[in-house]
Amino acid sequence: MAQKRLVILGGGESGIGSALLAQAKGYDVFLSDSGLIKEHYQAMLRDAGVPFEHNGHTEALILNADEVMKSPGIPDESPIVAHIIAHRIPIISEIEFASRFTQARMVCITGSNGKTTTTSLIYYILRNAGLNVGLAGNIGRSLALQILEDPKDIYVIELSSFQLDNMFDFRANVAVLMNITPDHLDRYNFNMQHYVDSKMRILQNQTPSDAFIYWAQDEHIPAELARRGLAASGGTVDQILPPTPSSMPPHEGHPTLCPFTDADFATLGLTFSQIGNHNKRNALAAYHAAKALGVDETIIRQSLQSFPGVEHRLEHVAVAGGVTYINDSKATNVDACYVAMQAVEAPVILIIGGKDKGNDYTVLHDIVRQKCRGLVYLGADNAKLHASFDHLGLPVADTHSMADCVRACHDMAHPGDTVLLSPCCASFDLFHNMEDRGEQFKQQVVSLPNP
Ligand code: ADP
Repeated sequence: MAQKRLVILGGGESGIGSALLAQAKGYDVFLSDSGLIKEHYQAMLRDAGVPFEHNGHTEALILNADEVMKSPGIPDESPIVAHIIAHRIPIISEIEFASRFTQARMVCITGSNGKTTTTSLIYYILRNAGLNVGLAGNIGRSLALQILEDPKDIYVIELSSFQLDNMFDFRANVAVLMNITPDHLDRYNFNMQHYVDSKMRILQNQTPSDAFIYWAQDEHIPAELARRGLAASGGTVDQILPPTPSSMPPHEGHPTLCPFTDADFATLGLTFSQIGNHNKRNALAAYHAAKALGVDETIIRQSLQSFPGVEHRLEHVAVAGGVTYINDSKATNVDACYVAMQAVEAPVILIIGGKDKGNDYTVLHDIVRQKCRGLVYLGADNAKLHASFDHLGLPVADTHSMADCVRACHDMAHPGDTVLLSPCCASFDLFHNMEDRGEQFKQQVVSLPNP
């Protein structure tokens, strides 16, 4: 039989992993990146004998593929992807590809917010339980490379909607859907339903022996389940779902539904190391996922208490001059900022701004009025922030660098206040990425007088 040709678009973590796995499995592999591939990734490709190009795409070497593995960062609108679609070449994601070569159990987490926290927490619990488990998806090393070099019995995988968009046969043994709120709409034709459908793909191919864990108070998820015939249609969430945590028996051919609500946290008597109601949801999701995998209840509860948290997510940085500084650089959409605002002590100086993804800031107005002493705008262009918030009448500062931003916060804050970096926006206008933004924030804070 002729070798199958797999072309890989994108020479980042998922692309390199897929290329090496595909090469080892006997595919005719070619990798192409429109930009520069990092030197150490180039070396890995060379060592494995995988042909590749960078700084541009050669169509003749791409459009002869049987299948294309596309990095989730490349939008469908990019010219090369449009050509691949026009040639009817199937496009799959790294997780879809890599999962063909493992029998491991797959625990998959998606949602607009809370993915990384919940994924890291589930991984933490399973490790504490002594299981042979790997962490993959948007976090850490690629699934493909792990399957090739260090196979595990279980993988805990963070899935973005972009990964899910190119998943077809993949099956999650435990699927977790945290919530669905507007995000990345620029990649979904500004159509919320397209984005919702993408998130709901985490359910596809699940069987009655699999579990689907979800936050039952989400605006979209219960209705979407009903639409798919997985839950009773109509009525309120309370009518559809059991009031206490319990697994609903599967409908024929459907996964076991495991809804949870905020009240379950107290009902179950859980305690969690991280602040905020949203983190209680993350803890509940992880609790159910670990239960679904048969982990001992005591280990789960102890792990929830000892979980160290994840950097750049409501991370306590320092108290300087009586002011508490919190780094929530990962809050790149309005909903994430909202829950962070709920979690922290007032009065708050909120740092907001960056590369706007089509945000509607009106949902923040009430909580900003209630909890903020002032706002510090941090972006290359703060015009939309001025238009959205200045009319609230709070003190505002306009800044374009982290140094100026932290200085402005310091000037505005009184002892007892909380300075919260929870910017609602992507970071690429002024920073390399959200980690860089968070690091710079922390550096500026610790160099303040009297930390
Ligand atoms: P993701 O990986 O989905 O971006 P993270 O766990 O990295 O999620 O958290 C990103 C931000 O989203 C956090 O800083 C917090 O403000 C907010 N967040 C975390 N968990 C939730 C949740 N369950 N619901 C709503 N917002 C959340």
